[in-house]
Amino acid sequence: MVDGSPQSPPIQQPASGSGQEEPFDPEDPEDWIRRIEAKWANINVIGCELGDMADACVRWTAGELELLYGTLSDHILAGYLDQPILMIRTDSDDFAGLTINWSVDGVLSSDVRISDGAWRSSPAMGFLDLFDSLLDTDSHFQGTIAHELTHAAVWFHPELLEWWIDAQEAAGESIEPGDWRIGYRYDWSVYEQLEDNPELYELTVQGELFAMTVSALMYDPWWIWGE
Ligand SMILES: [Zn+2]
Repeated sequence: MVDGSPQSPPIQQPASGSGQEEPFDPEDPEDWIRRIEAKWANINVIGCELGDMADACVRWTAGELELLYGTLSDHILAGYLDQPILMIRTDSDDFAGLTINWSVDGVLSSDVRISDGAWRSSPAMGFLDLFDSLLDTDSHFQGTIAHELTHAAVWFHPELLEWWIDAQEAAGESIEPGDWRIGYRYDWSVYEQLEDNPELYELTVQGELFAMTVSALMYDPWWIWGE
């Protein structure tokens, strides 16, 4: 259903290319930012330094940037992440990840904010993950990034969400808020204000479930190895 994502090199072996080798220090955040921005021209990683700032930004660690590199490489919807994306590390306590989508004169873009909470947010937020949030793990951090990037992909390509809804109908399956597999602990009440607009509410909820599902397929061991 969702094909077109390019094959990616394994994270341990970032592309070296055939040209000149740039010295690369995996402990240096600057080097990771350069590597990411060289591989994906549409990705702008905010370094949170003079001339490269965003509201409430903090600096990414080298380890976090390595995880970001891996998630961008492996994302199921990588082929749809084709418009400008700002990647911002923030110290906000209000969310684990947050994507703000923009349309300015018909040009689409997304700002993706990742907080400390990303280390403790499980990809599917489902019933089987009740104890996950006690642990800081790479898969939590990457799952949060994968979730937010899914929102960006849907913003750039709304047809993804239609395919997702159609695929559920075709399978005779409907995932709703409160489903034990995904979204069990998600705070759905934030969307209650949208219930006056059933169409928007449904699209928003399905967009959330889609993002959780993509994230869980990529990083949730219960989905990968369970049953
Ligand atoms: Zn979301």
